[in-house]
Amino acid sequence: MDSHQTDAQCAWRCIQSAHRILLVTHVGPDGDAIGSMLGLAWLLWPQGKELALGCEDPVPRSYAWLPGSEQVVRSVDGSYDLVISLDCSDVYRMGQVYGPNVVTTPLLNIDHHITNTGFGSINWVDPSSAATSQMILMLADTVGLAITESVAVCLLNGLVTDTRSFRTSNVNSHVLRAALRLIEAGASLHEITSRALGRRSMASVRLWGQAIDQCHLEDSILWTQVTSAMRRRWSLDANGSTGLANFLSGVREAKVVVVFTERDDGTVDVGMRAACGHDVAGVAVQLGGGGHPQAAGCTLKGDLGEVQARVLSALRCSLTGQEEESV
Ligand code: 5GP
Ligand code: MN
Repeated sequence: MDSHQTDAQCAWRCIQSAHRILLVTHVGPDGDAIGSMLGLAWLLWPQGKELALGCEDPVPRSYAWLPGSEQVVRSVDGSYDLVISLDCSDVYRMGQVYGPNVVTTPLLNIDHHITNTGFGSINWVDPSSAATSQMILMLADTVGLAITESVAVCLLNGLVTDTRSFRTSNVNSHVLRAALRLIEAGASLHEITSRALGRRSMASVRLWGQAIDQCHLEDSILWTQVTSAMRRRWSLDANGSTGLANFLSGVREAKVVVVFTERDDGTVDVGMRAACGHDVAGVAVQLGGGGHPQAAGCTLKGDLGEVQARVLSALRCSLTGQEEESV
């Protein structure tokens, strides 16, 4: 048995000893957040566990078709034997769902971000996994749980979205084998890919158009912004800019891409991407966020202009350091 399987068994013992369990995923959920939480729920319901599924923000439209998504609630009360955080790199990512009613409850942290702060009572963090959903499949396989079609659909959704359809640099034979298992268990790769990555509203294309038109390329840093006014103009919520940073990361002249999205609560969402050989996780952590070397982010308080100046200067500094290290 390898160390990953030992970790999975340890997590499973912790789950087995609990009956009422709160599953929590991160604010501004993506496909792996929702997919890993629902996939785990579909593994635990047949075990007779009583579950609550919490996420501070609503399930985005692209993932609302996933089985069980209607069970996700935005706030929870009551008491639990165990809290399981999924795809959260730090405790704040759980948002308000991690409230006073559960702060003293044992916390199992299941995540694949290299920047994970180890905030759980038990931490199963595996940066070699391309998605938290891949870890949930590993858990099921290690302890011999059946992969039903619902489990498979949710977990493949996580794997597809976090790898941008198997295009990221961490895709290896283990990831493809995991995907094959899920497809064999009944998940449709075509359906997931087209629903999660291939479909968007005309309004979001217009918004992208405006953001692309206004983008800047300076010192190999490509950046743009999505202001509240732009979102209002196209009647879009904060999800309107989802995918834009990935799209811009294809620009050959850019080493780093940043998309600043102004939120209604006075914060700015900073989504960053790095070309291969560069890293944005370091700057994200420095600014209180987290992520992966090639895709990271943070949420900063303040005026859009101030946040931009702060982030761009940290990135310039980090890029200079990275160039010096590579010489
Ligand atoms: P995206 O740009 O797609 O929203 O996020 C890219 C990566 O950065 C994801 O792995 C995500 O979990 C992480 N990330 C994005 N925003 C934040 C943030 O505000 N805080 C933390 N800790 N990580 C973030
Ligand atoms: Mn993830």
